[in-house]
Amino acid sequence: MPGMKELARRYRVADGEAFHLADVEPGDRGGIRSKQKAAAALAAGIGRLAEMQEKLYAQDRWALLVILQAMDAAGKDGTIKHVMSGVNPQGCEVTSFKVPSPEELDHDFLWRSSRRLPARGRIGIFNRSYYEEVLVVRVHPELLERQRLSPELVGPRIWKERYEDINAFERRLARNGTRILKFFLHESRDEQRRRFMARLDTPEKNWKFSNADVAERQHWDAYMAAAEEMIRHTATRHAPWHVVPADHKWFTHLVVGETIVAALEDLHPAFPTLDKERGKELKKARATLAAEE
Ligand code: AMP
Ligand code: MG
Repeated sequence: MPGMKELARRYRVADGEAFHLADVEPGDRGGIRSKQKAAAALAAGIGRLAEMQEKLYAQDRWALLVILQAMDAAGKDGTIKHVMSGVNPQGCEVTSFKVPSPEELDHDFLWRSSRRLPARGRIGIFNRSYYEEVLVVRVHPELLERQRLSPELVGPRIWKERYEDINAFERRLARNGTRILKFFLHESRDEQRRRFMARLDTPEKNWKFSNADVAERQHWDAYMAAAEEMIRHTATRHAPWHVVPADHKWFTHLVVGETIVAALEDLHPAFPTLDKERGKELKKARATLAAEE
């Protein structure tokens, strides 16, 4: 089994220029044969994550923003559920971004995300994000019309401009103490079909199925092209993408978990230490309580 640090690094894209989506195999399992071993490693990672999140919160210095993008049924929800299962809900917020509301459409495309950014000490998870603006909106440019932008603002450079705005936004966050981790869960078209079928065949999964999903699937190649270009233009050192094979759920969970653990370790979160003054105050408080006995 490869080392966990290695696993976290393997799918990282910090410089998008030469990135090709075809180089990542959705069925890849990183050479791991034993699902049991992977499960044990994930459990250990979840424990580490919970521990470090508590310190992150106490230290109140860094924020962590985790962004998840993927095609339907690639496992975003399950990944969040598994990887974050040990984390104290008080230190963590998950936001799922759906089709923008009329109010959201009346603002610039980054507005609704800005309002959901994690504060220092917190972990914020975006289940979809402003990256939909260069994915679904790019595949269906008529969605841009709903934004009511003046025609002189919507030229052939619109997508380049969106990449620029996103990069500037993320750089600003990084410079102000937010670590950013972006995940593209890379599933194959075949595996998506199997998962949709399971949603149709399993009563408990029926609610997850939407007819629109089957229609979206017809645009698969356009989505892959948009995803590749998105990663090429927005993978940076301060906000790297991780393109994670997603045909095996257990493997996706392991890679995402280990990547988050590695990023947190890199921040060296620690409980704050007391200065002398504060130490004296605590001693006094203790003496007061002791005197009550
Ligand atoms: P789901 O995550 O399956 O509940 O679906 C949410 C839907 O909202 C997806 O079809 C997304 O493509 C769509 N969506 C999310 N953000 C945007 C956006 N900025 N513009 C248009 N559609 C969006
Ligand atoms: Mg859906």
